[in-house]
Amino acid sequence: MLNFELRIKKMDTQETQKQKTEDTKRKDQTSQQQPGTAEQTVAGDMEELWVCCPFCGGYHLPDWFSNVELDKNKEGHLLSPDEYEAGGHARYVCPACKKPWTEKDRWRAVTNGKWPPAGCMVGKNGRIIGKVPITTNFSFRGHAMILPTEHMTINRMAKKWAEVILAKKMGDIGPLQDFYNSYLAKPFEEREKETSERRRRNGQELKRSAEEK
Ligand SMILES: [Zn+2]
Repeated sequence: MLNFELRIKKMDTQETQKQKTEDTKRKDQTSQQQPGTAEQTVAGDMEELWVCCPFCGGYHLPDWFSNVELDKNKEGHLLSPDEYEAGGHARYVCPACKKPWTEKDRWRAVTNGKWPPAGCMVGKNGRIIGKVPITTNFSFRGHAMILPTEHMTINRMAKKWAEVILAKKMGDIGPLQDFYNSYLAKPFEEREKETSERRRRNGQELKRSAEEK
């Protein structure tokens, strides 16, 4: 059984709680009544957090591979896990204005974010664009990049990623699968499928593979 999602309850700090509307509170009550299995999440409206950049005000879905920059050594390889953990070698960068975020910026982006259902987008003014399904089955998909800093930071994720890639080089793919499932809230198989599909479409090798990241 894949650990498909990090429950929204993990993010229920006082700060976010204050900002929740009555509507969201009602959704929380609904989700607390039902055990959060992956099947139930998929059966619901699959809301995902679009974070709001504190610099440009634009909304986007966070993506580990597109939005996080990791410093490399002279040979172009990842630094050691300890170096990432020490700080200063990994940063979240807004895809629109290209400003790097501090942890404080990231948390501001999370708390100002919006939760559109799957298939919808968030426009510049924060309005949800797309067909919002009429349902009482609300579900949420969250990942480590939207957790508060006491639970996760970009530095700690970078450290974990460096460990994962080291393990993969030693032939152990387990930590990589765990990173996809537990940190990115994505099934590992799905990512592999996505990659081969993209390769097929592009007719060429995908340059940015997990090893190069
Ligand atoms: Zn921005």
